[in-house]
Amino acid sequence: MITIQGQGVCGGVAFGKLLHLKKAGSKIPRTYIQDTQKEWKRFEEARKSAEQQLDDLYQKAIGEVGEENAMIFEIHRMMLEDPDYLDSVKTIIQEQRLNAESAVSITADTFSEMFASMDNSYMQARGADVKDISQRILSILTDEGRLRLSSHAPVIIGAEDLAPSETVEMDKSGILAFVTEKGSSSSHTAILARTMNSPAVIGAVGIMESTYDGADIIVDGFSGKIYVDPDMQTVLTMQKKKEQTDRQTELLSKLKGVKPITKDGQSVLLYANIGSLSDMALVYANDGMGVGLFRSEFLYLGRKTYPSEEEQFSIYKSVLQKAMGKRVVIRTLDIGADKQADYFAMPQEDNPAMGVRAVRLCLTRPAVFKTQLRALYRASMFGKLAIMVPMITSLDEVLQVKDLMKEVREELRQEHLTFREDCEFGIMIETPAAAIICDKLAPEVDFFSIGTNDLTQYTLAVDRQNPDATAFLNPHHTAILRLIDTVIKAAHQAGIWAGICGELAGDLELTELFLAMEVDELSVSPNQILPLKQKILSCNISQIRETALNLLK
Ligand code: PEP
Ligand code: MG
Repeated sequence: MITIQGQGVCGGVAFGKLLHLKKAGSKIPRTYIQDTQKEWKRFEEARKSAEQQLDDLYQKAIGEVGEENAMIFEIHRMMLEDPDYLDSVKTIIQEQRLNAESAVSITADTFSEMFASMDNSYMQARGADVKDISQRILSILTDEGRLRLSSHAPVIIGAEDLAPSETVEMDKSGILAFVTEKGSSSSHTAILARTMNSPAVIGAVGIMESTYDGADIIVDGFSGKIYVDPDMQTVLTMQKKKEQTDRQTELLSKLKGVKPITKDGQSVLLYANIGSLSDMALVYANDGMGVGLFRSEFLYLGRKTYPSEEEQFSIYKSVLQKAMGKRVVIRTLDIGADKQADYFAMPQEDNPAMGVRAVRLCLTRPAVFKTQLRALYRASMFGKLAIMVPMITSLDEVLQVKDLMKEVREELRQEHLTFREDCEFGIMIETPAAAIICDKLAPEVDFFSIGTNDLTQYTLAVDRQNPDATAFLNPHHTAILRLIDTVIKAAHQAGIWAGICGELAGDLELTELFLAMEVDELSVSPNQILPLKQKILSCNISQIRETALNLLK
């Protein structure tokens, strides 16, 4: 048995086989083959598996994003039957005696170049589709980049690191746990793991050792330990731990329906952070009172083009309908830093976390921003929507955003499209600048939501993505706690509400302090709601207020 020590970022115990995820796009093996018929058969089998994957994805997407948006998978499936495409692959295999991987790769390049050179923009976009279907076949042929895991489930995913776009693309139903060599606890991969309630360990150096691929492992997301080929004693101990966790989960489920009120009668709203429409089921399963942060940028990741206004409208509308009148705070696009999508064609930045990210990108590309705002306002008719803007640093940015919002509302009125005039508008406080001038920002907005993940990285000057700097990324730093206190006080002074939606909101060591500060709302990953509620129910704030506030000294 080998034990690897990493950092647990989502509790829980998982037993299963480790599946190494090697990055798609690694080198295509080019070999010459003897038996061309056998090679063609290999290709045909991979093509059929790809068709099956696309059928499954189509069905899944219909449920999640509606038929119109799911059509792309149907189109891809049809492209896999295109006679010209198949002819090209066959000819390369038969005449050049190249392996199926090379034949697919050459065909993909030729066809996508051909599409790209056409005048018609619709045809140009098909170039990306050819690349996409070819990549799918290549992934099956090379058995690499297995990001679409439906046929491999259930497994524990091991990876060097995972970009948010890769995590979004995965079929999560067969994933038991995540283990990565890199990453940090406030990285978006860790956040996604928490949303999915999968045990997750980061910084597990050595887990990508090739002989471990396919090995039986145990992941302990509490202690951050991973056991490769565990011995009997460890299996028994960990089974006991898993049973205890299951019992705790059962106990917590008894808190569903109980209001989050402290022993001395102070109440706080408990909301959920989500990243997709399908996460709405988790909000209900965990008794969330609404959505405090919908990270809308995930809709933009793992795809080839911008989501259209209609596409976004249909998703926002469904989220709001599913919330059945409960408040849903949708955060506008937060692309940039670690969340990148190729089609944004962002210039290379040396320091993207400090670059043109989030609201900065939206203000420099108003057309992209306005498309999202139009979709949001139109969807507002279907529930209780609040619009929230990330990465604010100045009053001027808030005013510019408000101007654009006004412009969008005016356009919608002229087009006789309806929207709710009473949508709340809020900003994230996640830069020291915003926290310091929050008294100036408060009169312009309906609420503040404190993004402690970024607030910590920017205040302490520590990159949240850098695993080597994790020791310096201390969100309990007095500077952070004081800023949070300042923001909540300024909000109340101005008569608006203030919440916390960064990972710190779910940190049970700070719950008493946040309650002593009189925070109005805590928004956490769905699986953290019930443990947080349990903590709140056990607090008596009037008794411990002074002690809790000592942390600010
Ligand atoms: C934050 O920064 O705390 C936050 C909630 O936003 P994100 O983690 O998506 O950057
Ligand atoms: Mg943030």
